Amino acid sequence: MLLREVGYARPTTVEEALALLGELDGARALAGGQTLINVMKARAASPDALVDLNKIPELKGVSAGADGSVELGAMTTYAELIASDAAAARPILAEVCSTIADVQVRNRGTVGGNVCSNDPTNHLPPLFAALGAEMTIAGPGGERTVPAEEFFLGVYLTAVGPGELLTRIRVPAGRADGFAAVTIGRDGTCIVNAAANLDGEPRVAIGCVDAVPVLLRPGSADADAVRQAVRDASLDPPSDVHASSDYRRSLAEVLAVRAVEQASQRKER
Ligand SMILES: Cc1cc2nc3c(=O)[nH]c(=O)nc-3n(C[C@H](O)[C@H](O)[C@H](O)COP(=O)(O)OP(=O)(O)OC[C@H]3O[C@@H](n4cnc5c(N)ncnc54)[C@H](O)[C@@H]3O)c2cc1C
Repeated sequence: MLLREVGYARPTTVEEALALLGELDGARALAGGQTLINVMKARAASPDALVDLNKIPELKGVSAGADGSVELGAMTTYAELIASDAAAARPILAEVCSTIADVQVRNRGTVGGNVCSNDPTNHLPPLFAALGAEMTIAGPGGERTVPAEEFFLGVYLTAVGPGELLTRIRVPAGRADGFAAVTIGRDGTCIVNAAANLDGEPRVAIGCVDAVPVLLRPGSADADAVRQAVRDASLDPPSDVHASSDYRRSLAEVLAVRAVEQASQRKER
């Protein structure tokens, strides 16, 4: 289906983009368009204007901090992240991004768009929640930083308010990471996914079982403790054509343990 008529602006600075989002009624940021354009074609979203972020250099790029942290510009595509030497400081980032969809989606889709759309089946919300990432949001009143665990508020709803932009994501230093997913076909949409980090207190985030990633702190990396933490969360995942609620609940335990096992192996290396 063709798009209905829509206004279009292509700013070159964050300041200009914020001004446009404030001025234009019904305006939406456009990143890689891999979600937004599809929902517009399906008429599930109908913004009056698109503020294209693709020509804003300050939103692009990956840098590694002296402390081992990695900073991702919101407009970094999956393909750029996968090819980035700076992102190699945290290999799980490229590993997970290289399993998202297909080459076309990885060439256009951005890390910022992935988390701002907060589709509960996306790969990156649970990953950033487990890694303890921090999201920087710019708005008319300046910048603020929100921990990933407070960033995701509901299906397609995040801490980025109207007239605001996610500008960057900071992933703290670490290496004991794991990720596991069961997908619909190879590199397909996740039925359930789980991410883990064991650099400090164990953190496990489960995706696809609720509107937002479910962050668990099992207290230990022991498989029984991880399984129990998932059970204690009393998950009530949706049922659909791909999986029943019971199956997703069972997968959540299995994948949480797998993600923690991978993280444990990396911790011991
Ligand atoms: C066939 C197909 C399969 C896919 N499979 C997967 C998958 O398995 N796993 C997965 O994780 N994803 C998957 N995706 C989604 C894909 O990763 C998208 O790229 C991603 O969800 C959205 O990123 P985008 O850059 O395209 O954002 P857009 O579609 O341009 O934007 C998405 C939303 O985020 C908002 N937004 C974007 N950037 C910002 C910003 N900086 N500040 C504020 N708001 C912003 C937009 O206004 C819009 O509401 C798939 C997509 C397709 C088409």
